[in-house]
Amino acid sequence: MIAILIGAPGSGKGTQSAVFCERFSFAHLSTGDIFRAEMAAKSPVGRKAAEYVNSGKLVPDDIVTEMVAGKLDDPQGGRYLLDGFPRNLAQAQALSGLLAKRGAAVELVLFLNLAPAEAMKRLTSRRICGGCGEVFNILSRSPQVEGKCDKCGKDLVQREDDTEATARKRLMVYEDLTRPLVAYYKAEGILHEIDGGRSPDEVAASLAESVEPQLGAR
Ligand code: AMP
Repeated sequence: MIAILIGAPGSGKGTQSAVFCERFSFAHLSTGDIFRAEMAAKSPVGRKAAEYVNSGKLVPDDIVTEMVAGKLDDPQGGRYLLDGFPRNLAQAQALSGLLAKRGAAVELVLFLNLAPAEAMKRLTSRRICGGCGEVFNILSRSPQVEGKCDKCGKDLVQREDDTEATARKRLMVYEDLTRPLVAYYKAEGILHEIDGGRSPDEVAASLAESVEPQLGAR
């Protein structure tokens, strides 16, 4: 089964994906995480993606689609949650084509709805651990020792694309290109809209409640 998670940057996609995937046994496929790992490894894809990711633009569709297609060929098969893909209508259509070839289709779309001003506040206050990747927030989840990770003690850093100007750009890209996917999937009758403006636990609970009729209680 293929599920998709849509939400503005900062809407909690990463946090909610982790909880959802654990609870309902989905494999998590985050295109943003994959690009960041490829960039850190300075691989050919990472080098190509860096200029787009660091300036808040979308990586070209052909690069992303090919990367996702490769991951979906994974022989493990099964349940996948796509987080951050598709990000525009062309990618949504490419995904349908890709799945159709495998006799599959997107069956579930989760939409974390968050006001742009709140998303902006969360993005610019987000800090991540340079060692283990744990996510903090200087307003809502500050570390015990300022600037240090609670889990591994390494320094916390700001993602290059979470700086004010780039975060603003990413939110504009989201409104222009990604947000129209909400109507696209709503028309297919598979969209679950969740209010992302609440605490992570509250969001996770209403997300689970919303999908349980389809996926079964866990
Ligand atoms: P995220 O972690 O999902 O906010 O993604 C970080 C960045 O990775 C985005 O701002 C884009 O530059 C790039 N990216 C992630 N997913 C996609 C996608 N589906 N299409 C194009 N670019 C993407």
